[in-house]
Amino acid sequence: MRFELPSPPAGAAALRDEVREFLADRDWGPAVRARSWVGFDRAFSREVGARGWVGMVWPRRYGGHERVGLERNVVLEEMLAVGAPVGAHWIGDRQSGPLILRLATETQKRAILPRIASGEISFCIGLSEPDSGSDLASLRSKAEATPDGWVLNGRKIWTTNAHLSEYMIALVRTSPAPEGGSRHAGLSQLLVDLSLPGITIRPIRDLLGEEGFNEVTFDDVKLPPEALLGAEGAGWAQATSELAFERSGPDRILSSLPALTAAMDVLPPTAEVAVGRLVARLATLRHMSLSVAGMLEAGGEPAQEAALVKDAGNSFEQALPEAIRGLLEPEDTPAELRALLADLTQLAPTFSLRGGTREILRGIIARELGLR
Ligand SMILES: Cc1cc2nc3c(=O)[nH]c(=O)nc-3n(C[C@H](O)[C@H](O)[C@H](O)COP(=O)(O)OP(=O)(O)OC[C@H]3O[C@@H](n4cnc5c(N)ncnc54)[C@H](O)[C@@H]3O)c2cc1C
Repeated sequence: MRFELPSPPAGAAALRDEVREFLADRDWGPAVRARSWVGFDRAFSREVGARGWVGMVWPRRYGGHERVGLERNVVLEEMLAVGAPVGAHWIGDRQSGPLILRLATETQKRAILPRIASGEISFCIGLSEPDSGSDLASLRSKAEATPDGWVLNGRKIWTTNAHLSEYMIALVRTSPAPEGGSRHAGLSQLLVDLSLPGITIRPIRDLLGEEGFNEVTFDDVKLPPEALLGAEGAGWAQATSELAFERSGPDRILSSLPALTAAMDVLPPTAEVAVGRLVARLATLRHMSLSVAGMLEAGGEPAQEAALVKDAGNSFEQALPEAIRGLLEPEDTPAELRALLADLTQLAPTFSLRGGTREILRGIIARELGLR
């Protein structure tokens, strides 16, 4: 695996300044900053959309701005560095929009993409099921073809922000797995309008007592024929290629960064070497993440490299709150920073679960290295 650093696009520094200015003096408390890309603030997403920073790389005819992927990275990094509440547009911008751009009908693209780009609508990810997490191919939600389209039955779980989203892209079975053949056959991706009859969204309370993810039940949900995204039966390959977008971005490295930035003002001089080490590690991870962004932009499918970035990045963002805490004297720690560290400490275990667990990622990496 090679991680070449792509050259920054022309105008990246000016764009970075522009985003910093937009974000300066925002009055977000620790609870918002700790959640950042899972925090949901539709009004903020509309503001970001109005600046042209959602769907940045998509064609103009679909509401995009025809910029390059590495410019998009500049915006993502700046948003995450301050813990901006970007969750209402994050999934649409990161993976559902690109998937629709690649696979949907022209009518769907024109109907949906401009609304993602303006921050008007949100997407959620319908992969996990009650008995199918890491072993995703065992999923049982099923859509049957009818003369009028599809009838969907089944259940998804842990669906982040489903209760606040307009659409889900769901991976479901549309034909039985062939006897003795691959379980990956017969799976398809469906674009599900969450306002349709037969859909029940039930929030699940997490460790912090919050209801950010959900169980979503489908009871005879009637979907139009064009709900099928891409080819019938090609859902596994489509969903796994989507994971390269999901796994390598700065959101897999920077979740705890606002705490480090806040701590810089109060850390004692004796913390210098430890902070230097943390920043050096961060710089290396950023290099790797940018490298994968460059590969994706060049049309590659760097699934293994993305898995490596996510695993190493999650380890960093997970360890950061505790590392910072160890450098601070409790009596010198401002209340805001203490609250931020407390929330991040409780959220950190999820960093290496959401988007694929550490063991699964390491299995993918080991396969690439020829170890299994
Ligand atoms: C905060 C959060 C948000 C999430 N949001 C979404 C979402 O929006 N949409 C969605 O679809 N899902 C979402 N998920 C679900 C997430 O993708 C799953 O939790 C994850 O894939 C693991 O599946 P599981 O929970 O069923 O655990 P399991 O698959 O049952 O795994 C349990 C443990 O066994 C280990 N394990 C399993 N198989 C193997 C193996 N073959 N080799 C070695 N170890 C193994 C796992 O690593 C893990 O430690 C979210 C999860 C969290 C925590």
